[in-house]
Amino acid sequence: MAFAKLGLHSQLVKAVSAAGYAGPTPVQERAIPAALTRGDLLVSSHTGSGKTAAFMLPCLHRLAESTAGGVPRVLVLTPTRELALQVATTVETYGKFLKGLRTVSIVGGVPFFRQQQLLRRGADFVVATPGRLLDHLRRSGIDLSGVETLVLDEADRMLDMGFIDDIALIVARTPSTRQTLLFSATLDGVVGGLASRITRQAQRIEIAQVPGRASKIDQRLYFADDLAHKSRLLDALLRDESLGQALIFTATKRSADELSTRLRNRGIAADALHGDMNQSSRNRTLQALRHGRLRVLVATDIAARGLDVPGISHVINFDLPRQADDYVHRIGRTGRAGRDGVAISLAAHRDKPLIRDIERYTAQPIAVDRIPGLEPTPRPSRSDNRSARPYAGSRVGCATNRAPGSTAARRMAPAAPVRSREATEAGPLSADFRRRFLPQAGDAVPGHAGREGGSRRVTSHPHRPPRRSR
Ligand code: AMP
Repeated sequence: MAFAKLGLHSQLVKAVSAAGYAGPTPVQERAIPAALTRGDLLVSSHTGSGKTAAFMLPCLHRLAESTAGGVPRVLVLTPTRELALQVATTVETYGKFLKGLRTVSIVGGVPFFRQQQLLRRGADFVVATPGRLLDHLRRSGIDLSGVETLVLDEADRMLDMGFIDDIALIVARTPSTRQTLLFSATLDGVVGGLASRITRQAQRIEIAQVPGRASKIDQRLYFADDLAHKSRLLDALLRDESLGQALIFTATKRSADELSTRLRNRGIAADALHGDMNQSSRNRTLQALRHGRLRVLVATDIAARGLDVPGISHVINFDLPRQADDYVHRIGRTGRAGRDGVAISLAAHRDKPLIRDIERYTAQPIAVDRIPGLEPTPRPSRSDNRSARPYAGSRVGCATNRAPGSTAARRMAPAAPVRSREATEAGPLSADFRRRFLPQAGDAVPGHAGREGGSRRVTSHPHRPPRRSR
């Protein structure tokens, strides 16, 4: 199928062929003709599926057809500033043949007054995060009465971040005759509730499976005894010659800062990205990543969704995400647009229940790998006697446990055997070793500031943390 057959304006067809796209992706093939009929759409499609173009092209088609202007005619809401800026950049990519198209992004962390000026000059296309847009609605009275198409990108994430009321207030300021296009990883639950309130007779398009299933992301898991062991594993992994750029996720802002500093001290072009940084440093960092000046970006979940940097060959979960769906979004930062990607998770043995959740969610086993000299301390199992063959045949990674001589293991530069002295001297996982090195329920984990800056407490049942500040 060719883009020309979808009914798009010829200038847009020109733009997508200039972008080098041979044809529409499945979500584009279904969503574009449906959106061109001007009906509402509920689309569930996974990250990296080409969903931005799936909503962007019909929006631009509408702008290309008639030139009435002055007030915003397309409004796209996204959960994060980075995603908003990325979407605004794609307006330029796909809309480059549309004369006089004015796009404004309305996100926090940049001067309010400047945005107000841009809006006063007239904008056709506004891409915004809900919080800052609401500020504009309250303080500068941005006029949304001309909005013809409202797009909610990553709607599930916006709801997750607590934007439901903001979204409701924003939607109430747009005309009821608007077209609404809602994109989300899932259309169930709260998203379904929101969708039924803000759309009319919406057509449902479900492309989504779990991304891992369809993509070519090689997922691996390395067990670490403690933080120092994790760091040594990371150092060895970063010596992998096939690694282009890596996106490393940590649980907290402080760990992201600390880890990026440590990597820089080791001569690696690394930087951090998290919600405590002001917007201009966040933008500078992302630009440096896009332009290849950074090899490693260490980030919190702020970078888990939407980020599209083709050079990211590896995603490394230095800390596992707390939810299986976050895992899927994180690993979707690699293997973009049909490329190969590697997703590596570093885990403690106590993370096994979470790993099982992730495997159940993705319906894929994650292969356990080892680096010679950096194997985890063998752990005796209560239920059977497999301690001599750690992890072999265990539920986690049972599919393709990589032996030390495997291709993946060979690709790693050799690492010095650096097993913890305490561990070897005290024997495998003695009570003393467990007490000293493995966090116990109720412990505060040293060196990990909580999301809101405090220390993180280890609980046997991790709860969903508040998500707004990342
Ligand atoms: P998205 O899911 O919108 O984040 O898009 C993921 C990546 O796919 C982006 O890098 C797009 O440039 C790319 N892309 C979008 N549409 C197509 C297409 N029809 N053919 C090839 N690549 C595409």
